[in-house]
Amino acid sequence: MGNVLKELRPEKVFKYFEEISKIPRGSGNEKAISDYLVNFAKELNLEVIQDSALNIIIKKKGTKGYENAPTVIIQGHLDMVCEKNIDTEHDFEKDALKLRVEGNYIYADGTTLGADNGIAVAYAMALLDSEDIPHPPLEVLLTTEEETGMGGATNLDPENIKGRMLINIDSEEEGKLLVSCAGGLRDKIKLPIVWEESPKDVCEYVIKVRGLKGGHSGMEINKERGNSNKLMGRILMDLMDNVDMRIVSINGGSKNNAIPREADAKIIVSKDKESLIKDRISIMNDRFKNELKASDPNINLQIEKAHIASSKVFSKDTTEKAVKLMYLIPSGIQSMSMEIKDLVQSSTNLGVVTTTDKEVLFDSAVRSSIGSLKEDILLQSKTIAETFGAEIITESSYPEWQYDADSNLRKLLQRVYEEKYGKEPEIVAIHAGVECGLFKEKFGDIDMISFGPNLYDVHTPNEHASIPSIQNCWDFLLEVLKQIK
Ligand SMILES: [Zn+2]
Repeated sequence: MGNVLKELRPEKVFKYFEEISKIPRGSGNEKAISDYLVNFAKELNLEVIQDSALNIIIKKKGTKGYENAPTVIIQGHLDMVCEKNIDTEHDFEKDALKLRVEGNYIYADGTTLGADNGIAVAYAMALLDSEDIPHPPLEVLLTTEEETGMGGATNLDPENIKGRMLINIDSEEEGKLLVSCAGGLRDKIKLPIVWEESPKDVCEYVIKVRGLKGGHSGMEINKERGNSNKLMGRILMDLMDNVDMRIVSINGGSKNNAIPREADAKIIVSKDKESLIKDRISIMNDRFKNELKASDPNINLQIEKAHIASSKVFSKDTTEKAVKLMYLIPSGIQSMSMEIKDLVQSSTNLGVVTTTDKEVLFDSAVRSSIGSLKEDILLQSKTIAETFGAEIITESSYPEWQYDADSNLRKLLQRVYEEKYGKEPEIVAIHAGVECGLFKEKFGDIDMISFGPNLYDVHTPNEHASIPSIQNCWDFLLEVLKQIK
């Protein structure tokens, strides 16, 4: 395979990007790329650490005049998401990516490009393999399994890193400086079910919430889209106020980090209540359509009569507890940041409700860029759970990266950006986890920032990277390093 990026400048950035594109490096398959970087460092006589998670740390001294400058960590991840088109023949375990330049963009034929985060790797290699770029002492930190849960960063031994200034190059929009991310956790509330024989002369109905858009529970929670589980909680509260009913099952959503789009509840009511509950569903349908007309205009509620009624139903007490829990468990935006415009500061998403033989399970994903607010949401959920005799467990907790109003690194990048572009960069934060959260937890007193060149359609076979933007961000990075003395 020829070198299709040969003509592009800066030469070393594109050369190394092309080199690493030949090495398969899907998440969990980083041995080859990690070994390749060990050899790369050794050939340059640079100190290198390959840890048990296959993370790579390469150290390079400051250039002349920068010997005593503070150490800067240049950070990215080695792994990439492996996606290909259905008709593309490509083995992500052994084939090289087939790079292609089209206008101002680099693509890979039929597959993800791995510019997320190969660009960081290429920048880092070009810096390490430079003699004429002024820079402070560098620690290049390239992690593994970022895309599948930040496994490399989680297992990083902080002893291996000495610097306390970190530039992460895993952002995807030129002109934006990322300064904060959310931490999160998952909580599961388990309500034990007491089953009873179904009463006589009843009918069973299935109520369905349909037509919602859903979305990512972090990145799209600010769109105020309807949550099918929460809407079902309201419907059941309303019905419980109007008729004597029992629940057979409630189920909704499939992932705790997705805003649920659908929910189903099976209920039993006495035979003469059919028109009443149909009226109530129709009223709720109108209310939801009105409330959600901008975010979810296609919402619709359905009610179907079952041919035969189930023989087992929740006891009256379990029915009440299940409905009240579903109604009261917090969900949606909990607070907005007043430091960063439009940033959701804390949120929770009741993503999945499941009925099993033993229990009703309410599964939520909590996020917050301030740790104590995450704990507070959890305490609310715990209090509600305990009020109704349910138990709560938490798992998969990950730390936030809180905005630091005094960050010197941010101030420096803002200044360099203004000098270079003649305008202010946008300061942004995301309501989802990034590796910087884990570094904050591990290193405590560390100043961090994240930026990167324009990438499009990442994590899809249409992923492409802007060549001019790669050039701009490289120049920007060099200017930043030059000013850290
Ligand atoms: Zn990435």
